[in-house]
Amino acid sequence: MAGIYLHIPFCKKRCIYCDFFSSTRSEKKAAYIDALCQELELRRDYLDEERIETIYFGGGTPSQLAKEDFERIFSSLYKIYPISPEAEITLEANPDDLSPEYIHMLRTLPFNRLSIGIQTFNENTLKLLQRRHTAQQAIEAFIRCREAGFHNISIDLMYGLPGETMESWEKDLQQALEMKPEHISAYHLIYEEGTPLWKLRQQHQVEEVEEDLSVSLFTTLIHRLKEHGYQHYEISNFSLPGFHSRHNSSYWTGKKYLGCGASAHSYNGHSRQWNVASIEKYIQGIEQKKPEYEIEELDLYTRYNDFVITTIRTSWGMPLSKLKSDFGDSLYQYCLRMAQPHLKQGKLEITNHVLRLTESGIFVSDGIMSDMLWVED
Ligand code: SF4
Repeated sequence: MAGIYLHIPFCKKRCIYCDFFSSTRSEKKAAYIDALCQELELRRDYLDEERIETIYFGGGTPSQLAKEDFERIFSSLYKIYPISPEAEITLEANPDDLSPEYIHMLRTLPFNRLSIGIQTFNENTLKLLQRRHTAQQAIEAFIRCREAGFHNISIDLMYGLPGETMESWEKDLQQALEMKPEHISAYHLIYEEGTPLWKLRQQHQVEEVEEDLSVSLFTTLIHRLKEHGYQHYEISNFSLPGFHSRHNSSYWTGKKYLGCGASAHSYNGHSRQWNVASIEKYIQGIEQKKPEYEIEELDLYTRYNDFVITTIRTSWGMPLSKLKSDFGDSLYQYCLRMAQPHLKQGKLEITNHVLRLTESGIFVSDGIMSDMLWVED
């Protein structure tokens, strides 16, 4: 069982907080799609013919692609890879791209899951972040997708935004819950170095929210969503039963994935690699049959660290039997020793041979994971 990620690095306009790899120049789009299809062919052996259970079109803004672009990519995918008939096939979409015609077109393609980047329903904040849509457009787009027959829709929200109060966050959550998406991803805003938002903070034009408020916003998020039947299955991800993101979960459960496109990452159990983060260099490399990428072979300790970071963040936790069988007795003992103070403080717990975060541990998960990592002397 494996997954495929396709990076579509085109955005109509850049949002001021974003540091994902994307470009507002779309003149290379046709050549890029060609290269993407060629890369799928060139790397056909990467997943050892494992059955493809998930496909994810991420970005950038994949909803900037047209029907012909998707058809070409799907034709390559289905020709080259053994794709399960039950595969989860997700498209990340921006609300303002989801016109009735566009959604109708999407319904003719194999997509069965949408992930809509809404971020907030606060008009002023949407403008400040330079999102391309209004709150009303986001709500209408969601309703249209639902009416068109999409029964698995995720929405992205952000909190800790400039000027955010508990009241504005409660309103965002209330609106999100009224829409009843199957899945909600909610991330705290990060001021990424070099972004326009980061510069605004440097110039004191926007202020970061206080840490106490951040914690309260996260607490409210967890409580509200749980009250409405959502399962908190990963630090930033919530779903109604049976609707967790199978694609993202495969990253956290160590499954293999092939990432195609500029800047895309791949993982096959013993190495990870990432493509060059340049549209021009990516296309050129593929055209010359010499893809530009970097590769890191994973030794036992790096694999152990990956195992800690990916398992502890989920509600499924870390299976201790797998820890022992995959990493040996010495790393098993090391892990339990490093977990001990957090077990004592009630931030971690062991039930049925699985080590996982407790409700209070989720708030300090970064520190806990970092304590459990293997650090070279
Ligand atoms: S649309 Fe998404 S990828 Fe593009 S700039 Fe905005 S947040 Fe970044």
